Amino acid sequence: MTSEAPAAAPRSTEFTWLSNPLDWRAIDRLILLGALVMLAPGLFGAAIIAAMVLTPDYLHLGVAQPLLAFYGLHFLLLGGFLVAALRRREHHEDWPAFENFIIGSFLVNVYASAWLTGTHFAEGLLLIFLGISIASALASIRKIRISYFWGCGVMALMAIGDFSGVVHPAPLLAKAMINADGSLVLGWLLIRIMLAAVLLSIMSISISAISRWVERENLYREMSTIDGLTRLTNRRSFIERGQSELSRAQRMGESPVACVMVDLDHFKKINDTWGHHAGDQVLVAASAIMMSSARPYDEVGRYGGEEFAILLPGATLESAVMVAERIRERIASTPVEVDGHTIVMTASFGVSCFPAGDIDNLNDLLKAADRALYVAKDSGRNRVCVDTSAA
Ligand code: GH3
Ligand code: MG
Ligand code: MG
Repeated sequence: MTSEAPAAAPRSTEFTWLSNPLDWRAIDRLILLGALVMLAPGLFGAAIIAAMVLTPDYLHLGVAQPLLAFYGLHFLLLGGFLVAALRRREHHEDWPAFENFIIGSFLVNVYASAWLTGTHFAEGLLLIFLGISIASALASIRKIRISYFWGCGVMALMAIGDFSGVVHPAPLLAKAMINADGSLVLGWLLIRIMLAAVLLSIMSISISAISRWVERENLYREMSTIDGLTRLTNRRSFIERGQSELSRAQRMGESPVACVMVDLDHFKKINDTWGHHAGDQVLVAASAIMMSSARPYDEVGRYGGEEFAILLPGATLESAVMVAERIRERIASTPVEVDGHTIVMTASFGVSCFPAGDIDNLNDLLKAADRALYVAKDSGRNRVCVDTSAA
C-alpha cells in the first residue's frame, strides 16, 4: 500500500476495534472505510424507496428503478468485498483492489446521485468533501488526491452540461419538488431530512477521524522530542533549540547564552548497587530538580544516559554558575527513596557562555561546558566548574 502517513505508524501488536484506526493495518482500515461507504447506497436507496412510496408521481420511475438497482448492486458488491477482506486479513496486510473499488464506487455513487437529483453543486460536493476527509485518514492519500483532480474535471463537465442545456437537469425528478407557493413536497422534505441526517453523521465521523489524526500527530511529536523516562527534551531537539538560540544571540549582538553540562557522579555504582530500576528513579528525580530550578524559557535536555544539558538564554556566565550551584545543592540534599532504600546522589557541573573567545557556535559552547565538566570530575566531583579557555 502506498498510503504515506498511516503506513509509517507503529502498530499496536494486539488489534482491537477500540484502538486508533490510524494505527491499524492497511486492510483493517479499508474494512472500516468499506463499511462506512456502504452507508451511501444503503441510505440513498432507503431515501429513494421512501420517495417511491410517498410521492411516486414526483419521480421518473424509469430512472428511480434502475437507480435503486444500482444502489443495491453497489451495496452487495461492497458487502462481498467486505466479507472477502475479513477472510483475507488473516494472511494479508493490504488489498489495493478493494481500496480502488471503495474510492471509485463512492465517487460514482455520489456523482450519479447528485446529478440525478440536481444537487451536485451543494450536497453532492459536500458529500464528496466529507468522504475525502475520512478516506484521507484511512486510505492512500495519493489515490485520494487523484480522485480529487478527477472530481474537479467531473464537476466542470457537469457545469458545462447544466449551462449548455445538453444534459437534462435532475432526470430523476418528474416534477419540481418545491410547489409554486414555496412549500416542499412531503416526500422530498423527508428525503432532505434523511440527507441532513446522513451529512451530520458523516461530519461527526469526519471530525473523529481528524481528531484521531491530531491525537496521533501530537503523540509522535512528543515521542520525537521528549525523552520517555525523564520527560526532558531529548538530545536532538535540545540541539535544535540550542542552534536557534545561538543564531538569535548572534543576530542580536550582545545577548548572552549560557550552557550547563551535568553528569551524575558514580552513577554506575548506583545501578550496580540498587539495580537499574533504582537508577532510573534517580534519573527521574534529578531531572525533576533541574526542571523545577530552570526558568520557563530555559531548556533542560537529557543529553546522554546520565548526562544532561541546560541552555540558559540571556544568562551570563556568573548567573549560570549560580543556577548550577543551586541545582548541585538541591541534588546533593535530596535523597531518593526507592523500594525502602535511601539513595544519595551528587552531580558535577561544567558551565560555559556565549559570547567568549573561542565560542562561535553551539558545538563550541557544548564542548566548552564539557571541558569544564571534566575538570569538575577530575577535581573531586559534586562541584561546579567554569570553562576558562576563553579567559
Ligand atoms: P562518573 O562519576 O565518572 O560520571 O561515573 P559514572 O558511573 O556516573 O559514569 P559511567 O559513564 O561509568 O556510567 C554511566 C552509567 O549510566 C552506565 C550506564 O549503564 C548508566 N545508564 C545510562 N543510561 C541509563 C538509564 O537510562 N537508566 C539507568 N538505570 N542507567 C543508565
Ligand atoms: Mg556519571
Ligand atoms: Mg556520563
